[in-house]
Amino acid sequence: MTSEGPRLLLGAPIAAEIRATVANDVAAFRGRRGFAPTLAVVLVGKDAPSAVYLNQILRSCEKVGITGRLVEIPGRASSAAIRHEIEALNADPMVAGIIVQMPLPKRIPLTVVIDTLDPAKDIDGLHPRNAGLLSLGYDGFLPTTAHAAVEILKRSSIPMSGRRVTLVGRSNVVGKPAALLMLREHATVTICHSRTADLAHHTRDAEIVIVAAGVPGLITGDMLSPGAVVVDVGINVVNDRLVGDVDFESASRVASAITPVPGGVGPVTNALLLTHLVRAAQAQASNGRGHGALHLAGSRQ
Ligand code: NAP
Repeated sequence: MTSEGPRLLLGAPIAAEIRATVANDVAAFRGRRGFAPTLAVVLVGKDAPSAVYLNQILRSCEKVGITGRLVEIPGRASSAAIRHEIEALNADPMVAGIIVQMPLPKRIPLTVVIDTLDPAKDIDGLHPRNAGLLSLGYDGFLPTTAHAAVEILKRSSIPMSGRRVTLVGRSNVVGKPAALLMLREHATVTICHSRTADLAHHTRDAEIVIVAAGVPGLITGDMLSPGAVVVDVGINVVNDRLVGDVDFESASRVASAITPVPGGVGPVTNALLLTHLVRAAQAQASNGRGHGALHLAGSRQ
């Protein structure tokens, strides 16, 4: 790091760049097909933090010409009713992509959503088909937050090939897919979780640390090697403030580059979701069945 502190990896300029491309793609789609693609956002039960996030997504849709459709399902709805609503969206030819806002009410198993979503409309990469495509190196839909954690590094020209990367977190939505994406970038990857013995040993050994644990301030400066690049995926509310999983102040004294929270991974996630939607719309329009032929992703695994 320099005497001015680490390089801040800001999400906003990257998100703006991504949205500009999406806006062009949406205009071209509209020109060819005569209608704008629709993103359906399903909200089960009203919940304040999710509602803020959803409004951001709907605003982003509007900015780039995508039609955002909010589908509100009462929090007391049964699993069967939720399944029925998702099936209706699967069958709706105007709807190109579906996201279901998490967390679901505790009594609704996640599998109700995952198993019902049409993989061709699963633009947040939850369905086992998309998870399987990612693990085999095909181009399925990526879990958007994991995609954002890697994209922010790529677009900031931070080399990944051959570098030691430690992931903190192994969830299906962030940690695990981010680890697979880093492998795709030819990094040497270590995955840590709540049972990892001596977490600091693994984070200190890494040149790039990606943290998605949901524990505020889990990673402190003394757990990083000098010059490390830090991507903080965590979003936690502490004393009415949004904070990440990395203790920004101590980490900034050691890191060479770091994503802030808020303002790092979040905006990029939001913008990338729109790119996934456009891709889904294009695939459905050209072959009527979503993925069509499978393609191996860019680099060899
Ligand atoms: P999650 O499903 O709760 O998974 C958390 C992971 O962290 C688990 O693998 C867990 O280990 C691990 N972990 C928890 N405590 C740990 C500890 N003390 N040491 C090491 N590992 C630990 O959470 P998630 O859905 O992946 O989300 C992670 C964070 O990202 C949350 O703060 C969430 O709000 C945020 N997030 C951000 C965005 C965005 O757009 N920026 C989007 C989604 C989520 P085990 O597997 O052993 O339990």
